Formats: sequence, structure tokens, C-alpha cells
Amino acid sequence: MAYQLLNGKEISAQIKSEIAEEVRQIIRNGGKQPHLAAILIGNDGASETYVAHKIKACEQAGFKSSLFRFKENISEQKLLDKIKEINADDNIDGLIVQLPLPEHISEEKVIETVDPKKDVDGFHPVNAGRMTLGLPTYIPATPKGILELLKRNNIEISGKHCVIIGRSNIVGKPLSILLSQKNETGNATVTLCHSRTKNLKEISLQADILIAAIGKKEFLTADMVKKDAIVIDVGIHRVKSDKTKSGWKLKGDVKFGEVAGKCSYITPVPGGVGPMTIVSLLQNTLAASKKEIYG
Ligand code: NAP
Repeated sequence: MAYQLLNGKEISAQIKSEIAEEVRQIIRNGGKQPHLAAILIGNDGASETYVAHKIKACEQAGFKSSLFRFKENISEQKLLDKIKEINADDNIDGLIVQLPLPEHISEEKVIETVDPKKDVDGFHPVNAGRMTLGLPTYIPATPKGILELLKRNNIEISGKHCVIIGRSNIVGKPLSILLSQKNETGNATVTLCHSRTKNLKEISLQADILIAAIGKKEFLTADMVKKDAIVIDVGIHRVKSDKTKSGWKLKGDVKFGEVAGKCSYITPVPGGVGPMTIVSLLQNTLAASKKEIYG
């Protein structure tokens, strides 16, 4: 059987237009335009690109956005003060602080300073705790986007064996919790693998749904994938290319060329998980604006 692409680009565009329509309605009825604030520190190329995509998506959905840029050497205190100022600004619904941060700034302190009500990345311990307990919360954007991608392709998760490679706080770990919840986007049997996992291939070969969030270019090869598995590639790697106008092309954590032929469904890179992540951030920001989670 030929594989089918899980087309995140197409589905995210559809969701974005649904959000834009809802925002038009809200504004027509005299409601508030959703407003996302982003903090970007330094000049890291990948972070610049991600933030630019998020800001552009806000425009496309009819949101207001505010970008606060700081130099690499901003003090931790100054950053925390800015976050508190945004927390207190009633016009701003959601706040994201683009990671990674410079080494002299504590990621933990930054995440804990963001008001949980505005934490549309879902990284604050309060929101992570609520997610773990299955309470309404902001679900981190990448796991949320993956669940939506599976749902909109009518892929049944219940009873499946999901193997996740990578246990980061932003992707693998929350996804492992979400897929094992007792609800309609869960009910899977989940195995969470990491760099200390022994016999990784033996485990990955058991996966009905295999999620690669490792951060190593083309790590997942065909010999690690069961026939007809569903493969989700979270990885993003920029590699030099003389075939593209930008001089770069994107690769994932999956060796697509050899893996795709074994799958029933697979996400491409680019155009798979990446755009779903961005549209999930919009959904969280809209929920914040409508005060759906915390009232
Ligand atoms: P991360 O924080 O770097 O974590 C990588 C995980 O992979 C860790 O848990 C690590 O294990 C595990 N790992 C590393 N080498 C391994 C190996 N040889 N065998 C098994 N496990 C191994 O990664 P992340 O932030 O989740 O990001 C993963 C990738 O996704 C990156 O390429 C990133 O750019 C991309 N990403 C994409 C999106 C998107 O929107 N598409 C969003 C976020 C991230 P240990 O815990 O033992 O170290």
C-alpha cells in the first residue's frame, strides 16, 4: 500500500481560516481582538525564523501581535520585569518567550514568571500539572498540533502502541502523557524512549504510531519501522542546499526517502508538524482571549 502524507501545511491553513472567521465574528460582535506577545532574545537564526512565522500567523488569523526584542546580554532581572509588565497588561492575552535562552538566564525562572493564564506555550508548572491531571489547560503547541493532525486524518489512537523517541519537556514528555490519557485523543499504550534506552530498534519496531523528537538529523531509518506504521517526524534541521533560493533546506529526524515506503502515513518535513505547531499556538491564544481556561 502506498503511504499517505499527513499534510500539516494544508490542515493548518484550514484551521487558521476557521480561527480567522471566528475572530471576525468576535470583532463584529464588539469583542476583543486576540493579542499575542512574543519575547525574543539575541539573534539566533532558528529562533528568529520561528518567531517570524508566529507573528505572520497572527496577522493571517486577525490577531494583534507585539514582539519585544532584547539583546543577548539582557539581565535576567530586566527580562523578568518585562514578563511581569506583560502579565499586568490587560490588552495582552498570551505571552511566549522564545527558547532557548542565553546561558546566564534561568529558563525555569522565566517559565515560572509567566502568568499561567497567559502561558499559551503551556510550559508553566501549573499548566503542565493541569495537563497531567487531564484538566482544561493550554496544551504545549507541538504535542497539541500532532494530536490535531492525527484527529483530522481520522487516525484512531485508542489501543495503539505509540512509541515516542525523545523526552523533552516541550515535545516528548507532554505527548507521552496526552496519548496515555483516558480520553478521545488518548487511550494509547505509550513507550517513551531516550538516550539511555537500550534496544531502541526492538522497541520502535513494535510501534503502530512512531514519533521521532530526537533532534538528530535523519536518525530514524527504515530498519527501525514496522510495516504500515504511522510516522510523525518532529525534527527540524536546516541544511545547506544549492538547489533552493534561500540556500537552505529542511530535514527531519526521519530518513524520509527510505522510511516513507514502509509507512501507512507519514509527516513530511517541511509541511508536517511545524505548521501544526504554529496553528496550535493560535488556538491557545484564542482560548486565552476568550478566557476559556481560567475564566
Ligand atoms: P531535545 O530537548 O533536544 O531532546 C531530545 C531528546 O532526544 C532527549 O530526550 C534525548 O534523550 C533524546 N535522544 C537524543 N539522542 C538519542 C538517541 N540516540 N536515542 C534515543 N533518544 C535520543 O529535543 P526537542 O526540543 O524535543 O526537539 C526535538 C527535535 O524537534 C529538534 O530537531 C527540534 O528542532 C524539533 N522541534 C520541532 C518543533 C516543530 O514545531 N516541528 C517543535 C519543537 C522541536 P535524553 O533525554 O536522554 O538526553
